[in-house]
Amino acid sequence: MLDLPRARDRMVNVHIGRRGIRDREILQAMREVPREAFVDPGFEEFAYEDGPLPIADGQTISQPYIVALMIELAAVKAGDHVLEVGTGSGYAAAVMSRIVEQVYTIERHPGLAETAKRRFERLGYENIAVRTGDGTKGWPEAAPYDAIVVAASGPGAPLALQEQLDVGGRLVIPVGDDLDSQRLLKVTRTGAATYSEEDFGGVRFVALIGEQGWAESGEIAEVDRPLRHPPPVSLPDMIAAAAEPLPDFDDPAFGDMFDRFADRRVVLLGEASHGTSEFYRARAAITRRLIEKHGFTIVAVEADWPDAAAIDRYVRHRKPRAGAVAPFQRFPTWMWRNTDVAAFTDWMRHHNEKLGPSRQAGFYGLDIYNMSGSIEAVLDYLDRVDPQAAKIARERYGCLTPWQSEPSTYGRAALTSGYQECEQAVLEQCRDLLARQLDYARQDGNDFLDAAQNARLIASAERYYRIMYYGGAQSWNLRDTHMFETLEHLLDANGPNSKAVVWAHNSHIGDARYTEMGVVRDELNIGQLCRQRFGDKVALVGLGTHSGTVAAASGWGEEMKVKQVRPSHADSYERLCHDCRIPRFLLDLKRDEALRERLLERRLERFIGVIYRPETELRSHYADASLPQQFDAFVWFDKTTAVTPLGPEHARAGVPDTYPFGL
Ligand code: SAM
Repeated sequence: MLDLPRARDRMVNVHIGRRGIRDREILQAMREVPREAFVDPGFEEFAYEDGPLPIADGQTISQPYIVALMIELAAVKAGDHVLEVGTGSGYAAAVMSRIVEQVYTIERHPGLAETAKRRFERLGYENIAVRTGDGTKGWPEAAPYDAIVVAASGPGAPLALQEQLDVGGRLVIPVGDDLDSQRLLKVTRTGAATYSEEDFGGVRFVALIGEQGWAESGEIAEVDRPLRHPPPVSLPDMIAAAAEPLPDFDDPAFGDMFDRFADRRVVLLGEASHGTSEFYRARAAITRRLIEKHGFTIVAVEADWPDAAAIDRYVRHRKPRAGAVAPFQRFPTWMWRNTDVAAFTDWMRHHNEKLGPSRQAGFYGLDIYNMSGSIEAVLDYLDRVDPQAAKIARERYGCLTPWQSEPSTYGRAALTSGYQECEQAVLEQCRDLLARQLDYARQDGNDFLDAAQNARLIASAERYYRIMYYGGAQSWNLRDTHMFETLEHLLDANGPNSKAVVWAHNSHIGDARYTEMGVVRDELNIGQLCRQRFGDKVALVGLGTHSGTVAAASGWGEEMKVKQVRPSHADSYERLCHDCRIPRFLLDLKRDEALRERLLERRLERFIGVIYRPETELRSHYADASLPQQFDAFVWFDKTTAVTPLGPEHARAGVPDTYPFGL
């Protein structure tokens, strides 16, 4: 059963309050009005999501935040006399009716007006008068008004409405020629014949159709046009003007364009899916440049530590660890076993060839899933440096043995007292190993760093799998905190001037505080933690696409398929990038203040992981975010292609066939 009052309260706190609506009366009114009574049957469960929903006659019930914003801008208060144009479902009128003395509302579609009237009667809202007609002419008999709110967008503010304002009265209306984006305008009547205007940024509304609005055809209805405003520049045009087209990946000019981030301690490069070749190739080109020209030596990726360690040995010309299994054998194998990653690690190996260990670039994994690989690596290390300690470690890790192949079932078992000692045992093992740092590191610093990180990983993973059982934000937060701490250890281990490039999904890299995951679910991520720790010494770069193909599975553990990516959603940031018609570009989100302002308001953004379900794309793969707050820059590839997984056909002559990917 849906708990609608609770959902309503949450909507008001999260989507309205936290986004800056302060007026207590508006917040209270929105807590009171049951939005589910204003949506069409079947849509009740979505009534408290912050989005517009379809209603009859091809119209919409406005997004709750926009309703609140317009009422706040119109400074609607107790005792006011208010006119609304565009009754639609009646929701906005209902909210205003909880604040003011009398609301007049006009709707051009008789069916909508009638339904709204019945809703008001059912709810006992007696101070709302509804009329069917052309609202661009106002409701002169009831004028003057303290506030007029127009819920559909016109070419300008209709003169009739301006004239029906009382002196001091406010008219709020979306205006603009572009059906996809308009400006929210506030007109205040300052005197008998004087008005002032303010612009409150980009919005998107259905058209205001009437004598002083648009004709049905989309043209302006009449010759005597209402007061016009200069046509605003469309958002895609603004993006196009700021976009810096990107050359081919192999053109050195590609990497040069990212020199602006050369002075950062950490550059984090995202991806909008785990299976898109262009994202890997772009990150490789940027990273090559940062390594070659700007002294970056750490490449830390969203991969498991022990698996990445095998690649690290390869790029540093070290022998594989004796008895080690080939890396990246677990689902989703294509994420790191693909031709783009292989080409990049070959480049790293070549780059490192003539360099001493301290100047070589290393390849590290930040993630925590391969607990059994880490246990094996710690034991192997201790067997070599301290066999007595290896015996104790074997005993301590023994309690995790039954769960090594299926760690996700560990959480349930951990609830029973029999497994409680695991937590203690793995922590003690980690502490013991770190305490012997001076002893052990004397033998081989690199190997010690690897073993210490594996021991930390086991402790984090034990906790991760234990709390994963309860669900919620905690396990996500633990994982991203572990990734961040691993990055910190790497930076510390490489000295005060060390610099790192991170490759991870946009959901880990884009500052979570400006996305649904942070705002609604209290999740944090490595991008946020990096900003909080390193301030402007960090660059967060997101990557995105409109359509093409992607390598992904339909469910966890299922086989990889090459799937078609659906064209981006009409209300998404991706669609704005697509509409600017530049096939690949870098958008520096810090350079153009006006553009940044217009992009600030949260929109949909697409997140494809290793699983892609195009059939439920909107629900499964889109979330709200504020792109310019989430990232410092955005890299765009309009059309993208799936990665190619490594297969036996990619084994190279002259290279041992298990090296480094075990083909
Ligand atoms: N305030 C509404 C709510 O809370 O559900 C949402 C309104 S919807 C975004 C805009 C409405 O404006 C549509 O129902 C549309 O039919 C109506 N509309 C468009 N032009 C109009 C006009 N000239 N006069 C009256 N209503 C108009």
